[in-house]
Amino acid sequence: MVTEALEASRRAAKSLGTAFLDCFLPRFCAVCRTRLSSSGHLCADCAGLLKPEPFSYCPVCRFEEEGVGSAEWPPGADCPVHGGLVGLAALRAEEPVLEVVHRLKYSGERWLARTLADLMPDPRAFGHSPGSYGVMCPVPLFRTRQRERGFNQSSELGKLLEPRVGVPFVPDLLVKNEHTAEQARLGGRARRRNLRGCFGVARPSVVSGRGVILVDDVVTTGSTASACIEALRSAGAVRVLVLTVAA
Ligand SMILES: [Zn+2]
Ligand SMILES: [Zn+2]
Repeated sequence: MVTEALEASRRAAKSLGTAFLDCFLPRFCAVCRTRLSSSGHLCADCAGLLKPEPFSYCPVCRFEEEGVGSAEWPPGADCPVHGGLVGLAALRAEEPVLEVVHRLKYSGERWLARTLADLMPDPRAFGHSPGSYGVMCPVPLFRTRQRERGFNQSSELGKLLEPRVGVPFVPDLLVKNEHTAEQARLGGRARRRNLRGCFGVARPSVVSGRGVILVDDVVTTGSTASACIEALRSAGAVRVLVLTVAA
């Protein structure tokens, strides 16, 4: 009873505080920057355009090549070729979400990580309990790129997801050992060649015999995810779930 009353007064104080702050610090939509009158960080238009429609897919072959969508291949079914691997994304990799991701990565708008992390799916909604995964880590950047950018966008997303997903987040679990050409500039086969063997697991004992949740911003061809999965599997990961904003 006392706790409930305390909780109610805390909530009231919080909303009063927010209203008070809004008088002095107007808030703007994270995407289009129009002024916001309600809570949250997206205006109604942007929230509509970025409405999550979470789906699962195979992060290696994307299912497309295997005929997903056909009657004998219901959505959400495991890829028979790549068992133990699953990809979950909130949105299809197209505009406007790609522009938001681009701004986070290349314009240094680090605060957009919160907007994007909030869209990302909860693995529990797809029947993946936190207990099946021992650790969560980001797709790493090569150290010079991380220095240039000042942060790793996947790590920003992972940190924000940790309390919601309920799996410990270890930012430096995977390392990128080589500087590679920007994936976006390469074709499919060149992408895979570009990344083969360039990721390593810094602490294999953390991965061995456990499930790993790999966090990234966007999966396109799946070549980055595949190269990371290869490294995690060689370190003994029993299953890998690739969690992204878009795919
Ligand atoms: Zn907006
Ligand atoms: Zn597959």
